[in-house]
Amino acid sequence: MAVGILALQGAFAEHGQMLDRLGVEHFEIRQLRDLDKKTDRLILPGGESTVMTKLLHELGLYEPIKKLINDGMPVFGTCAGMILLSRDVEDGKPCFGTMDIRVRRNAYGRQLGSFEATARFDNSFDFTMTFIRAPYVEAIDDSAKNNVRVLAEYDGKIVGVQYKNQIGLAFHPELDDDTRIHERFLEMI
Ligand code: GLN
Repeated sequence: MAVGILALQGAFAEHGQMLDRLGVEHFEIRQLRDLDKKTDRLILPGGESTVMTKLLHELGLYEPIKKLINDGMPVFGTCAGMILLSRDVEDGKPCFGTMDIRVRRNAYGRQLGSFEATARFDNSFDFTMTFIRAPYVEAIDDSAKNNVRVLAEYDGKIVGVQYKNQIGLAFHPELDDDTRIHERFLEMI
């Protein structure tokens, strides 16, 4: 299996380190020709969604990646990565819009840089979650409710969802030593 990690900006290297620990092959997607490589899964990292959106368009990566996702490629979006996947974005503009959810950017206030919290993940284990200028999921479209699985909630807000072939998390699982969420993504579908 090979995982393509969008590497335009943000916390992409840490996802690579996670995959190294799990012994999974991966490569960085920086330009169009990187998509010629065989890829089984995609990771959209945290960072700054506005910058990534701009670069995706400028580099001609937007349409081909959107097509891969629409064609069913398993994709894992963390923090800004989840924003890129969301259909609606409060305080921002949608990018791929392939996940029928609405997120609020910088939802915990711009002043609150980062914090950690422990919450249950997919009813199966407790996970220490690192939030950095994080979004949360504000709403799930009615039409999507049957397809959306809530994976994590913190403080009454949804901070992790799976929608068909897509997982979106508000936090950064790649910044801790715990590989269990990455393993879950690798087992998906
Ligand atoms: N606030 C960032 C954005 O809007 C996301 C922060 C992050 O990925 N840690 O893109």
